[in-house]
Amino acid sequence: MSENLNPKQIAQSQLLKVRPFVEIPEKIFLKLWEPERILKVRFAITIDNNSEALFLGYRSQHCSWIGPLKGGVRYHADVTEDEVVALSMWMTWKCAVMELPYGGGKGGVTFSRDPMLVTPERIEFLKDYFPKKMSRHVLENITRKFTEKIAPLIGPDKDIPAPDVNTDSQIMAWMMDEFSRGVGYTVPAVVTGKPIVLGGSLGRNEATARGTFITAIKALKYTKLLGEEKTVAIQGFGNAGSIAARLFHEAGFKVIAISDSKGGVVNSNGLNPRELEAIKAETGSVINYKDGERLSNEELLTLPCLVLVPAALENVITTKNADDIKAKVVAEAANGPTTPEADEILHANGVFVVPDILANAGGVTVSYYEWIQGREQDYWDENSVNMRLEARMKRAFDKVIAEYEKNTVNMRTAAYIHAVKRVVSAGKLRR
Ligand code: GLU
Repeated sequence: MSENLNPKQIAQSQLLKVRPFVEIPEKIFLKLWEPERILKVRFAITIDNNSEALFLGYRSQHCSWIGPLKGGVRYHADVTEDEVVALSMWMTWKCAVMELPYGGGKGGVTFSRDPMLVTPERIEFLKDYFPKKMSRHVLENITRKFTEKIAPLIGPDKDIPAPDVNTDSQIMAWMMDEFSRGVGYTVPAVVTGKPIVLGGSLGRNEATARGTFITAIKALKYTKLLGEEKTVAIQGFGNAGSIAARLFHEAGFKVIAISDSKGGVVNSNGLNPRELEAIKAETGSVINYKDGERLSNEELLTLPCLVLVPAALENVITTKNADDIKAKVVAEAANGPTTPEADEILHANGVFVVPDILANAGGVTVSYYEWIQGREQDYWDENSVNMRLEARMKRAFDKVIAEYEKNTVNMRTAAYIHAVKRVVSAGKLRR
């Protein structure tokens, strides 16, 4: 039987797995199985020559028992309703692992390869119509239209979007502006991950990668592997992957391989992440870097190295390659990179996984700091943001380890036990 790669069903099966370890009343469990609310929207964009393309977007709100909903918005060809729902469930657990006063939300716009284009002859033109290739003007239009459609759901005390795959601080600025226009006054706290001048937090841009780095080091200490040759392979060169590469490099790791959506480069003597950033900015991909051999994304995952950082999309470690993973620690900067079946294989093979809801929680944690700073109108220096982040990541890691040791489960289930306990107790108290 082929492996189930539906992200929503994967997220549900992960929840099912904690049932033997956490006392969850049936009524509460059933509520956590589906999102509280999901909005599906359609909007049209004028591309050029007066053609119109229709886009679909979503905002899923999984569970608001602890507080307002929180989570990013992604722009990608593979965005589906089920993916957004899964990502919102993962946000609920991520916020709970970090003990943040939020529930999980997530949004996305499908940048389809097969768009619903009003003029059919232009389908070819839109075949790879990705955000990276779009003009800023089109991207701004899409962002504004999407924001207008989801505006009834969002707000500083309701649901607070943030960046995710292919979205950044400029997109947050447009979202904030569009929402503010709608209500008639400036509402910076409706989104996080904003540019600094609009109320963003220092350290937010680096926070996801910093959290991944901090938890990877904690994992190496815990497994007593810190003395080994420090090598890292990183799949994905977006916000999380590129900054993680820089942080590992600065800490004396050899970054032996890096990839982006077009492929990767490997050099066992180590790559220089800054040079790769320059090549990517100049040519559009790290594959044009000369000081290394080309390799595929799949090959990167199975390289011998101390730490593997999947920092791209879901379902990259599956039953097909889990047995071939040679890294000793996998630190999941991406959301959902490992399937449940692959999780079992990695665990059986002694690969230590820092699961996504812990490893990439630095982003939402500094989003929370941004939200606090905005509400208090009191802005912290970068060092204090980073220090608070580090302390919080370490504390969450230790709490997950406590469940890991107590229940003899894998690290993902341990993180779920810690998170689900918190959400369930909030649910019980509210009714
Ligand atoms: N998109 C990020 C995540 O998946 C950040 C979410 C946020 O800051 O709200 O965790």
